[in-house]
Amino acid sequence: MTWRASVLTLFPAMFPGSLGQSLAGRALETGVWSLDVTNIRDFANDRHKTVDDTPFGGGAGMVLRPDIVDAAVASVADDRPVVCLTPRGRRFTQADAQRFAAGPGAILLCGRYEGIDQRVIEARAMDEVSIGDYVLSGGELAALVLLDSIVRLLPGVMGAAESAEDESFSAGLLEYPHYTRPAEWQGHRVPDVLLSGHHGAVAAWRQAESKRITRERRPDLLAAAP
Ligand code: SAH
Repeated sequence: MTWRASVLTLFPAMFPGSLGQSLAGRALETGVWSLDVTNIRDFANDRHKTVDDTPFGGGAGMVLRPDIVDAAVASVADDRPVVCLTPRGRRFTQADAQRFAAGPGAILLCGRYEGIDQRVIEARAMDEVSIGDYVLSGGELAALVLLDSIVRLLPGVMGAAESAEDESFSAGLLEYPHYTRPAEWQGHRVPDVLLSGHHGAVAAWRQAESKRITRERRPDLLAAAP
């Protein structure tokens, strides 16, 4: 079954963007997933195609109107979750990517300017998601990030099935380091164990490296592990 993505944006030309390339692009062509992009401006109802207005209570910037956004969401709404990209949302993780990949698809709402009127976010019970603690100028790059991380998990998208199992975050740890030929480069040798041909020893070394690197770089991940 095709995993279905619908994106609502004021800048439809930003899609499929990077998702038209490489693994995601191939999977889009072969129908593993589908992407439709809706221009929120198409739901404006005045001559000037206005989608935003000034914030109640004053302050800088413009806010996307709830009636216009609601009409845009209604045009694609079905059984899929509606995700609102916002720096005020819960931080997106690999576990979220796995959960979305297991579902039928997602509707992704990209904000611009100061953001979106909170009433439509609540009325549509949107899942408010952030990709990190920084502010982008629009939700489009965030939507591309979510979709990239989800699509690569869909069955048949990645080459070897196990490449998704080992990687960073899937076991609550960062991944071990990788090495390839030449075995010696600028005087630096690859760790001997990797050349030993001893699968058990390699697995043990990788597990230990995973833990060491996670402890050094992301102790928060270890603290959160079950
Ligand atoms: N005034 C808002 C920021 C608006 S940025 C605030 O201070 O919270 C404009 C749009 O970019 C947002 O509506 C959102 O859709 C998107 N955006 C910005 N940063 C983001 C992030 N870290 N994660 C997801 N979306 C983000």
